[in-house]
Amino acid sequence: MSEERAKGIILIGAPGSGKGTQAKKLKEQLGYAHISTGDLLRAAVKEGTELGQQAKGFMDAGQLVPDDLVIAMLEEAISTPEAQRGFLLDGFPRTMPQAQALDAAVTIDKVVDLQVPFDLIEERITGRRMSPSGHVYHVRYNPPKVEGVCDETGEALYQRSDDTPEMVRARLEKFDSETRPVIAHYQGKGIVVEVDGVGDPDEIFTRIMAVL
Ligand code: AMP
Repeated sequence: MSEERAKGIILIGAPGSGKGTQAKKLKEQLGYAHISTGDLLRAAVKEGTELGQQAKGFMDAGQLVPDDLVIAMLEEAISTPEAQRGFLLDGFPRTMPQAQALDAAVTIDKVVDLQVPFDLIEERITGRRMSPSGHVYHVRYNPPKVEGVCDETGEALYQRSDDTPEMVRARLEKFDSETRPVIAHYQGKGIVVEVDGVGDPDEIFTRIMAVL
């Protein structure tokens, strides 16, 4: 890492609150690096790396991957030249030890807390479909032109194995027990901005830009 501390924005919120969607829009607007620990872990699982093999069982069970593994992965991701210009964290930190490791390494400017009621989350997540190259659809809210096929790439869409109703409940429990204290930690520093995460993605993006 360079001597000048890189600056970053954290997008925090329950699974399915729209962190990934908004991070992509913010990346375009601000030119910051988008670092999604979920995406990095899924890529590691797909490639069958040692990290991927260690993480897979936790991810399949809707549990969190152990802090030491995720922190090491994140430290590598924020030390790239691209991230030195600024970065958006999506899905990290999710636990207090992760927040402490992050605070020791970088300066966080703002934490955007995307708020979506839990009863909307299940429908959002279970209807979510992904393309291998990272485009995200929803069977009802944002369907592809041809069912099951990515508009952009023509690839077959798939459903994440942890996007089932049972897994969603396990992931929301983890959010309550592990991630809410992280939000409180950053509230104590006065850098949390709360954004209503219900509605059209472009409207939500406008709300975020207004508070950044
Ligand atoms: P996501 O795509 O952010 O919903 O993450 C998918 C899964 O990856 C989570 O359910 C966890 O198993 C794992 N994961 C992603 N980010 C983290 C993190 N910061 N700490 C622990 N596990 C994580």
